[in-house]
Amino acid sequence: MIQIVALRQSHFCRNSQAVGKVAFGTQPYAWGARRCKVLGKPITVGRTCLKGPVMTQHSPVDPVALTADLIRCNSVTPAEGGALIRLEAVLSEAGFDCVRVDRGGIANLFARWGKRGANKSFGFNGHTDVVPVGDLSAWTHDPFGAEVVDGWMYGRGATDMKSGVAAFAAAAVDFVRATPPDGAVVLAITGDEEDVAEDGTVALLDWMAANGERMTHCLVGEPTCPNLMGEMMKIGRRGSMTCYFTAEGVQGHSAYPHRAKNPMSALVKLLARLEAAPLDEGTAHFDASTLAITTIDCGNPATNVIPAKGRATVNIRFNDAHSGASLTAWLQAQATAVQSETGVEIGVRIKISGESFLTPPGPFSALVAQAVQAETGVVPEYSTSGGTSDARFVKDHCPVVEFGLVGRTMHQVDERVEVAQIGALKAIYTRILQDYFA
Ligand SMILES: [Zn+2]
Repeated sequence: MIQIVALRQSHFCRNSQAVGKVAFGTQPYAWGARRCKVLGKPITVGRTCLKGPVMTQHSPVDPVALTADLIRCNSVTPAEGGALIRLEAVLSEAGFDCVRVDRGGIANLFARWGKRGANKSFGFNGHTDVVPVGDLSAWTHDPFGAEVVDGWMYGRGATDMKSGVAAFAAAAVDFVRATPPDGAVVLAITGDEEDVAEDGTVALLDWMAANGERMTHCLVGEPTCPNLMGEMMKIGRRGSMTCYFTAEGVQGHSAYPHRAKNPMSALVKLLARLEAAPLDEGTAHFDASTLAITTIDCGNPATNVIPAKGRATVNIRFNDAHSGASLTAWLQAQATAVQSETGVEIGVRIKISGESFLTPPGPFSALVAQAVQAETGVVPEYSTSGGTSDARFVKDHCPVVEFGLVGRTMHQVDERVEVAQIGALKAIYTRILQDYFA
């Protein structure tokens, strides 16, 4: 019977004694140099001491197997599906303190190795929920089967982002076992990023603030690379907001439009104005803001009736030249102008999904970029492109960047991940942890 013993800084192998500094990789660890009293051999940092059949090394956590386990959990938001339960089992077995921070019917998992509130607390953030499979008959593989064909693993969440979560969980477990850091490693994993995200990462951050938990820096493991592993990391995100217009005029006969007030005409006029000029030309770290008309509706079944009411929706992705408040004021002013010109009453309702944010390039982004380059040979571009992510919440808590896999098939039918890239991602996350605590 082999008993497995994990080495920690606090309770190192009892059969060892300190012998001074040893090098692990390029980083010396003062605490890590030990010599096994039984075997008389130096113990490299990260190795356990073998005393006959009593102690052996933990086998590393296989991020590919863990990804497959997670894909097999049907966790379409808001279902937990067993994914967080699986992660909690892996993490608590490795000595992480785990707390389920469920709120509003959403399951969330907080896990910390090391001291609460430590001055150096590296955080990983990610989600185990997935978007619906869509047209099941269009899938060539079971979306919850994790089948591997020609080196690719298929399934909903394969790239967004069960592989990312598995990679950082595996990296965190192996890192704290191999080289217990002077500080803490925190994992904040939510069951709702894909839907409204009101009780997901926000709930975790609220709970952390109320309980003396912290992350000094955070990496979100969302897929960030467009085509090639390593080519892009995110140092910020554009903001996102949706504006719902309602127009109320006077119904009438289409042969006598002067006797009616056509709400659709007013909406067309308003939307044309909103689209007429670009919002900006882009800023130092951001592409130009965009405005897209996403719906125009009145549900009118008759061709000879001018409707009384109409609705339209625009979605704006905005950079740091704007805020949700400044754009709200602009939209409101445009609507008021068209209202006074047409006599059609225009209502404005705004939903701001997230403000834009930027973690300015500095030592933290450089550390992540260097780890990516060291493992992949590719220098990642600092980007703020794409949609929103939970980094928009984390940014209020600590500096945050995002790095993850190639995300080409996310949310698609036959979502898949190249199996070899899961291990590569774990290696990058491991190197980030090593460098952060060096
Ligand atoms: Zn995602």
